[in-house]
Amino acid sequence: MINIPPFDATTQYKSIATEIEKNVCAVMAGGRYIMGPQVKEFEVQFAQYLNCEQVISCNSGTDALHLALRALKIGVGDEVITTPFTFIATTEAIGIVGATPVFVDVELDSYNIDTQLIESKITERTKAIIPVHLYGRPCNMTAIMEIARKYNLKVIEDCAQATGATWEGKQVGTIGDVGCFSFFPTKNLGCFGDGGAIATSNYEIAERVEYLRRHGGKVKYHHEELGLNSRLDTVQATVLLVKLPYLDQWNSARKAIADIYLNSLAEIEGIVLPQRTHHADSVWNQFTIRVLAGRRDTIQNSLKAKGIGSMVYYPIPLHLQEVHAGLSYTTGSLPVSEQLSHEVLSIPLFPELESSAQKIVVESLKQIMADIYCLQ
Ligand SMILES: *Cc1c(COP(=O)(O)O)cnc(C)c1O
Repeated sequence: MINIPPFDATTQYKSIATEIEKNVCAVMAGGRYIMGPQVKEFEVQFAQYLNCEQVISCNSGTDALHLALRALKIGVGDEVITTPFTFIATTEAIGIVGATPVFVDVELDSYNIDTQLIESKITERTKAIIPVHLYGRPCNMTAIMEIARKYNLKVIEDCAQATGATWEGKQVGTIGDVGCFSFFPTKNLGCFGDGGAIATSNYEIAERVEYLRRHGGKVKYHHEELGLNSRLDTVQATVLLVKLPYLDQWNSARKAIADIYLNSLAEIEGIVLPQRTHHADSVWNQFTIRVLAGRRDTIQNSLKAKGIGSMVYYPIPLHLQEVHAGLSYTTGSLPVSEQLSHEVLSIPLFPELESSAQKIVVESLKQIMADIYCLQ
């Protein structure tokens, strides 16, 4: 029986198990479970990898976004421009600090924020833009930074799905004022639980995030501001230290698989493939195809019947989520995001996906689409 999951964390673990176990056991025996030396060491190594001044780790990508907004003093009465075609964490962070998300629709081809539509949404209250590098594909950062400079806005990059991706040769997360990363297990650099970090070359932002993540006090038991308990566990930092040196190699493996999919699925009727990038290097957190809206669920079920997992990221765009009903968007407000939410399907892609499995995915999709388009 074929079983090809959309994502598999265990094969990667097995490939580095000895190294992981040795280092994690040392942490457990050493007893410094909170803010042990590995936390700082990981921050230094990750900053070097990204080629930026400062990395401050925290408990999740969601907290990284929250802390970045807090560090920039964005809150009640402020507006933050972002995409509706992302994971809820992006707008959750905006809402939690008391600010208002303002949605700008995405491009059909790139799935990312349509930079041509941003300016028309800027008001006196706009304080920041949060571009999301969805599925590992960088947004047009040149256009975004130009707009941000013109209107004096901050830029917080949501890099949760794009660790290691570059825009015009620069690591994402180092182009705006702050980059927010997630180490959730399915991300390109994943730990064995929750984890996150912010990257910045602005020392003031770094300093604020550093104390806001540990209860808002620069000196222990002296608290100037309401903070969070959002430290990265020493065990997770240790896992990340072992994994970071492999990141480029794993991202290259993802790119190679994406190339195979792009070549072998090119001529299939009924499938629109993700676009190749030009100024950017995508790290393919997801390989997301588009199929005709009414057929998406049938195709997903047919794949499942053949033992192939696939995912829908995301079935409801954020402007239509119940939690954001108060923002008064309706169906039709952001048509491209709505269309994508009915059309997208992410097929299996992770570094350890074997070429035999890739072939099965390709052949199965060919078969399913041929059946659909010949029977009508
Ligand atoms: C995963 C993700 C987050 C949140 O990261 P967590 O570590 O799960 O909190 C934020 N934004 C996007 C786009 C994500 O995919």
